[in-house]
Amino acid sequence: MSSQISCPDCGGIIVFDAHALLRGETFVCTGCRAMLTLSRDSVSTVADAMSKLDALRKRSNEVRRSSG
Ligand SMILES: [Zn+2]
Repeated sequence: MSSQISCPDCGGIIVFDAHALLRGETFVCTGCRAMLTLSRDSVSTVADAMSKLDALRKRSNEVRRSSG
């Protein structure tokens, strides 16, 4: 699943894949070639946030199933 963020340098669009980013891949701004990458400290923080998000999604799916 790919996402987009605005480049902090030129305001252009950087398309990135959150899972690939977590694996340590680097994405480059098409406008100014600025590099988007996660530091090792950030990886654990983002991975934790994403696992919580996944848990929330699963829970909302269960709610939907039981009410339908
Ligand atoms: Zn840029």
